[in-house]
Amino acid sequence: MKHLKLPTTARSLLVSAVLVSGAALLAPNAHAQDANDTAKFSIAIHGGAGTITRESMTPERERAYTAKLTEAINAGHAVLAKGGTSMDAVVVAVQIMEDSPLFNSGRGAVYNWDGIHELDASIMNGATREAGAVASVKTVKSPIALARKIMEESVHVMLSGEGAETFAQEQGLELVDNSYFNTEWRYESLQRMKKQVGNPQDKQAWATMDDNFKYGTVGAVARDKHGNLAAATSTGGMTGKRYGRVGDSPIIGAGTWADNASCAVSATGHGEYFIRYQVAADICSRMKYQQLDVVTAGDTVIHDVLLPAGGTGGVIIVDKDGNVHMPFNTEGMYRAKRVANQPVEVAIYND
Ligand code: ASP
Repeated sequence: MKHLKLPTTARSLLVSAVLVSGAALLAPNAHAQDANDTAKFSIAIHGGAGTITRESMTPERERAYTAKLTEAINAGHAVLAKGGTSMDAVVVAVQIMEDSPLFNSGRGAVYNWDGIHELDASIMNGATREAGAVASVKTVKSPIALARKIMEESVHVMLSGEGAETFAQEQGLELVDNSYFNTEWRYESLQRMKKQVGNPQDKQAWATMDDNFKYGTVGAVARDKHGNLAAATSTGGMTGKRYGRVGDSPIIGAGTWADNASCAVSATGHGEYFIRYQVAADICSRMKYQQLDVVTAGDTVIHDVLLPAGGTGGVIIVDKDGNVHMPFNTEGMYRAKRVANQPVEVAIYND
């Protein structure tokens, strides 16, 4: 059982619980909800989907993921609890995961076919429908910070490659050598992937390669006390990707979407399918035009549209009223949510 003390709003005595593996470990006393706090604020995060099973996990690894997800969601939640913006909350949460070697984003980004790292990210403001996106950068320590700068300080929505890096430098963002993103386990994963694929021209081999080579992105969605939604996604993309491949994570509408009128979504999964099915925007459109609730809209797209098409992965969604849903069609998805002053819930597996 884990008790958390939120920053000194002193307005509520909060208790938290961690829900791991579907088993709720609830704190003994009820959560005191602030009577003046009418707006439901909430945040959800993911750290990638894939073939994540209990059998493939060691207790140490499970603990490490649970701790990092808890740290990230609590950092974002603290911003919201103090009356901060959803934009600040999603960036804070994503940056904690970018700085961790556990996830395929920032520090722990996967290797491309040539043995280097190319990072993608995007962010969207549901209040204004402004967005910022970056593709294929090699030296930007925090791609999500760059995506936000592009949204707020440039006249464009999406920058890529060297130009994006020049802009990052002009904006005073921290640049690092590409080797900063090196980790041994991702390097081994590239070697395994290359062995499995064999001939890189073999389309069939790419189609059937192990799911875990395709996943690991991080993301966050939030609704703040002012009713504004935001979504952010950051990734190293797909292990062994070639020719400057760009996935769904920096594509607004595919991997990231936020609109105050419906919902905010961040995706993780086989990016090519998320692009072709415009997954993030499709979920919100179904809510907006068909008046579907967040569970029906999310489940329909992930299970009834994406999966039959061959697309695997998942999403985190927060709707305009602060309800959260986190559907996925893989064996697991690292995820966490915290709705208003409710306890933290962290989960990994599909149970
Ligand atoms: N969606 C990402 C991509 O295709 C990968 C992931 O979610 O892990 O680049």
